[in-house]
Amino acid sequence: MRLSDEELERYARHIILREVGGAGQARLKAARVLVIGAGGIGAPAIQYLAAAGIGALTIVDDDHVDRSNLQRQILFATADIGAGKAETAAARVAAINPNVAVRVENRRLSAADAPALIAGHDVVLDGTDNFSTRLAVADAALAARVPLVSSAVAEFEGQLGTFRGWEPDKPCYRCFVGRDPEREGISCSEQGVLGALTGVLGSLAALEVIRALAPFGDDSAGKLLLVDALALRFRTLQLPKDPGCPACGAGTLR
Ligand SMILES: [Zn+2]
Repeated sequence: MRLSDEELERYARHIILREVGGAGQARLKAARVLVIGAGGIGAPAIQYLAAAGIGALTIVDDDHVDRSNLQRQILFATADIGAGKAETAAARVAAINPNVAVRVENRRLSAADAPALIAGHDVVLDGTDNFSTRLAVADAALAARVPLVSSAVAEFEGQLGTFRGWEPDKPCYRCFVGRDPEREGISCSEQGVLGALTGVLGSLAALEVIRALAPFGDDSAGKLLLVDALALRFRTLQLPKDPGCPACGAGTLR
């Protein structure tokens, strides 16, 4: 995939990085990324993915911009209150980088339609705020063997992980959260959340999408980053693969 003169200039600070280069930038241009949720995580992530020159972005969100979103969802402005989030996000993407093809899916993703939505994408970024959607996305991404970048924030805590659970030594999302949804807990739909922290985790999610497409440095799949904004502490854990995992364990037909 060739880069135009305009793109060579736009992405010069990527291309000059030895670990990215013109080849890495071309991989970003060739990539199709599915972003589920244009909220606290999705809003900053979409901006960085657009700026980074991801060739095609699909944005899934059925919500409308609410005044109470503006404290953290910096993709949206006061004038956008009441407008559809996915359409508004797509307009911002076009303004940031006209080289990005944006597709809007103005709906809430369900377990039934997740596989069809994920098909054809190279990476899925899940920034949704409800657990049933997260599981549906994780299961469909695992079945399709599409890397999943998952990020969540609540109050002063954030978490980030990349999952390729079909690989023999890598955990899937269900290895991480287990069978009990109560263990997940993290959701910003009703809890308080420090707005700037969603920016941190959303930006890191974009970074992980870029790493998944044009690998640089260490492979982060199977690691879990935990951010504690109260203590200003970042910790990285190695997540084990659960041999009894209902999604990717030895008992499943994969
Ligand atoms: Zn698993």
